[in-house]
Amino acid sequence: MKVYKFGGASVKDASAFRNLASIVRTQGGERQLLLVVSAMGKTTNALEQVMDLAYQQKDFQQEYTQLKDYHTGVLQELFPQQHPAHERQEHLLRLLLQDLQSMDPSGEYDQLYDQIVSYGELLSSSILHYFLQEQGLQNKWVDSRKYIRTDSSWREAKVDWVSTERQIKQDLPAVLEQELVVTQGFLGGTPEGRTTTLGREGSDFSAAIFAYGLDATEMCIWKDVEGLLNADPKYFPDTVRYAEISYQETVEMAYYGASVIHPKTIKPLANKQIPLHVKSFLNPTGAGTKIYNCRFDKLAPAYIIKENQCLVSFAVKDFTFVSEKNLSTIFGVLSELRIKINLMQNSAISFSICTDFHAERLHRLMQRLHDQFVIHYNTNLRLFTIKNYTTESITKLMDAKEILLEQRTRTTFQFVSK
Ligand code: ASP
Ligand code: MG
Repeated sequence: MKVYKFGGASVKDASAFRNLASIVRTQGGERQLLLVVSAMGKTTNALEQVMDLAYQQKDFQQEYTQLKDYHTGVLQELFPQQHPAHERQEHLLRLLLQDLQSMDPSGEYDQLYDQIVSYGELLSSSILHYFLQEQGLQNKWVDSRKYIRTDSSWREAKVDWVSTERQIKQDLPAVLEQELVVTQGFLGGTPEGRTTTLGREGSDFSAAIFAYGLDATEMCIWKDVEGLLNADPKYFPDTVRYAEISYQETVEMAYYGASVIHPKTIKPLANKQIPLHVKSFLNPTGAGTKIYNCRFDKLAPAYIIKENQCLVSFAVKDFTFVSEKNLSTIFGVLSELRIKINLMQNSAISFSICTDFHAERLHRLMQRLHDQFVIHYNTNLRLFTIKNYTTESITKLMDAKEILLEQRTRTTFQFVSK
């Protein structure tokens, strides 16, 4: 039993769909394989935009039409003749339009967001269903919102693992005995049947949830890079692919901000010892990366950059030392405002944190604590992390940068810079 996840880039146009079908045929097989698919290309961003406009009661027609034309264009290329795929797509696009038109501006934004943004995956998965079918790859389209049970933490829904696993085991294994299954990434459903989403880029996590529920023998994420690399090729010219790497290393890299795999993906896989492969859909027979329970010494240093960081420092007003009591106050407010610490450091009279920049949360943080502390902050910073660093790798990365804060442990070197 295998689970494949295809991201937005692997379904961004008609030829990407053709390539995907050929990967399923040559690498996957005709059954015992569940396919999880993201929204086409940059559709989720586009849906976020339309959502914003509709919520503010502004004109969204142009943005909606763009989305519609994009999907219709791809489908037209895949099915130039009359085909049920067209009706299905028109139906979904009509529902989306109705939801936008009837948007209640006094409703809860995050809840409405989930109802709108989920159309991206509903659309891409139905195209994939019909297209594979047409290619002779018999498959069943299933609605992941009926399988992935979540609470109603909109936009970041928490999975109810027990009922999700029960739901998946109830009928999917039997279906998969006979044919392929096509479903959506990113989406879940509450017990009352409302749509939720699992957080941006959450399709990797969806695939891992299905792999967990199915006790899959492996999962594979198909990407536009050769596997798990030690750095983002956007920033670094010479990257190295890890052939094999442990769950633990991967989780840590995701934690520090490597955008390769959604951070929540690894845990369910590690719990059931399901190996995760990362492969390139541009070179499907390439070796890729295998992530599993293993241990390697002397891994190539991994370079990770987190953009849009903010460094906040709290100083005690009367020159007393930063005490546990002060820290506890600060931590309490950070947790309440959902401000996540990416790095922290304290000195005698001040305490500093590096965090993702959110203007509104930062403003509230200042409001809450300015009575007790002198607070300074710098924005527009970057947090650099080198995992498994060497002296050479540090020199290379720090080269002529202005460093605001630095920290090292035995395995990890981090600094904050402009
Ligand atoms: N389509 C969603 C997003 O772009 C989920 C995903 O791609 O993983 O965030
Ligand atoms: Mg995506």
